[in-house]
Amino acid sequence: MLHIVDLHAGYGGIKALNGVSLSVGKGEMVALVGSNGAGKSTLLNSISGIVRPSSGVIMFEGNELGGRPAWSIAREGLIQVPEGRQVVPDMSVRDNLLSGTSALQRRAPTFVLRDVFDLFPILGEREDQMSGSLSGGQQQMLAIGRALMGAPRLLLLDEPSLGLAPIIINQVFAALKQVNEAGLTILLIEQNARKAFELTDRAYVLDQGAIVLEGASSELAKEASIVAHYL
Ligand code: ATP
Repeated sequence: MLHIVDLHAGYGGIKALNGVSLSVGKGEMVALVGSNGAGKSTLLNSISGIVRPSSGVIMFEGNELGGRPAWSIAREGLIQVPEGRQVVPDMSVRDNLLSGTSALQRRAPTFVLRDVFDLFPILGEREDQMSGSLSGGQQQMLAIGRALMGAPRLLLLDEPSLGLAPIIINQVFAALKQVNEAGLTILLIEQNARKAFELTDRAYVLDQGAIVLEGASSELAKEASIVAHYL
């Protein structure tokens, strides 16, 4: 579904990605793990059109995405849940969720409000509340729900576990597993390698802008260098 070949990207003189290649098949949930500054967000932002890569190929279902603006990529159904959630604090939970439908254009919704409330019941209980009054974990659920309202064909998540308590991380990851099992393709960027390997079947490890390891998540979780650096 997604094929990235030899991707390079940076900021002025700073090289953030040095020839990254990876792929995600339809229906898969794939993790990309790496420590601070490895280039994870740059990779995700390159896919979603927020960062413009300097070279390389990003193909989504046979179409080249490189150079297209972010709004146009979102309308293809590549929907990103941004780092730090970025919900609109002085808008209600319901209106934040509805804002996600702007990515639909002529595509049919795959999730409606009721589906998001079934997935995250706390959002249904708080649908009239201002989003800024939610806890960090609830805001993460809201950010995921908002992305689902845009009918993602590929859901891109940037460190959804960041700053959350372990029990909340489990709830969020259980919801991701549920939507993946229902058929949604997911690329999950995480610093929390242990959790990411538990959740996914396949993973990549990014270090200093390059993929240094890839394979079955269960095997990577046993790899000595991974255990030493990330677990
Ligand atoms: P983190 O987990 O801390 O978010 P990351 O793996 O997502 O890290 P990136 O945010 O992609 O890594 O950063 C990769 C490199 O690019 C780092 O050296 C970072 O300092 C640099 N970088 C990221 N964003 C910018 C920017 N807007 N301007 C300049 N340099 C940047």
